[in-house]
Amino acid sequence: MERTFRIAVLPGDGIGPEVIREAVKVLRVIETHLQDAKFDLTEYPCGAACFLATGEALPAETFEACQRADAILLGAMGMPSVRLPDGREITPQLDLREKLDLFCGVRPIYLYHACDTPLKGYGPGEIDFVIVRENTEGLFSTRTANNSNGEVVSDTLRITRKGACRLFRAAFELAQTRRRHLTLVDKANVLPSMAFFRRLFLEVAHEYPDVTIDCCYVDAMALYLLKSPQRFDVIVTENMFGDILSDLGAGLVGGMGMAPSGDIGERAAVFQPAHGSAPDIAGRGIANPVAAILSTAMMLEWLKHPSTVRGAKWIREAVRRTLQQPELRTPDLGGRLRTSEMGDLIIKEIEQLWCVSST
Ligand code: ATP
Repeated sequence: MERTFRIAVLPGDGIGPEVIREAVKVLRVIETHLQDAKFDLTEYPCGAACFLATGEALPAETFEACQRADAILLGAMGMPSVRLPDGREITPQLDLREKLDLFCGVRPIYLYHACDTPLKGYGPGEIDFVIVRENTEGLFSTRTANNSNGEVVSDTLRITRKGACRLFRAAFELAQTRRRHLTLVDKANVLPSMAFFRRLFLEVAHEYPDVTIDCCYVDAMALYLLKSPQRFDVIVTENMFGDILSDLGAGLVGGMGMAPSGDIGERAAVFQPAHGSAPDIAGRGIANPVAAILSTAMMLEWLKHPSTVRGAKWIREAVRRTLQQPELRTPDLGGRLRTSEMGDLIIKEIEQLWCVSST
């Protein structure tokens, strides 16, 4: 049965609109080849530029459109020059996570080609793990609170049974679809909140006897990810630790331009490249669109329609084929391609895949 999916597109700031343009191009091409899935794509304002223009980073109209949408595709938000009086940047993407209760931050880290990792001796697919980051509490929980008395400022690392257990169940279920191993990352040797987090993890683990587990302190994890990333399948962790380890993970497979993500809740989800607005390269047409395009594949998979799931497979395969030639890359990966050229190459591969599958 034909289905039209309503997608709210929030390009945002900096390189956000540049990479989202390529993701939308890819989506339009996929749509022409899918018989029974269509996409109603509408752009909405959100982010630092929107804040400067209107006084609001996430206007009510944008938020309502996100609530109505089947999925949300987001570029990047925030600019270092646009700050709140206390020095924090504008972060409507975090507001969206909290307002839509997108508790599960899924960040796949996958090496497509040996030339893209700074580590020696790893080939395609030999770095392949997913970080599942708690998205709505942890050390980010008091980010909007005014906890200063002029002398002391404190942030609270909040762990709730409900928040942790639903995250762990989502991570176990993801591990069941992969190599069935789940690693908890915490700091249970020092922080009471983290000891509680670990206790809850071990409780939930009894529900999933088919998944093997281990636990690791976050400082050790930074070392292990560099020394033996192939050990890991799914990693589940607290909000701030997940934020930091996601960038480390991206660095293992080529950098922020290679890291897609999905922020997923019970009913809604936002898909976005794991990178920020990259003001250092914004406006130059050289941002790597692969993370945004792979985030679109995650979105198609999450929509769970047989056609969109097929579209997600095509996108990943097209990215894999494109990256087989080491010279065909944007400057972050040592190449000379522009953002739009990289998008066009991936689209060319999708067209070829479609030709082969339809003959
Ligand atoms: P945020 O905190 O908002 O996530 P950030 O401070 O971690 O952002 P990014 O904007 O992600 O910073 O940029 C980090 C570095 O990675 C910068 O040098 C930037 O140019 C580079 N970078 C990020 N995304 C891309 C991309 N798509 N293509 C090429 N380089 C990128």
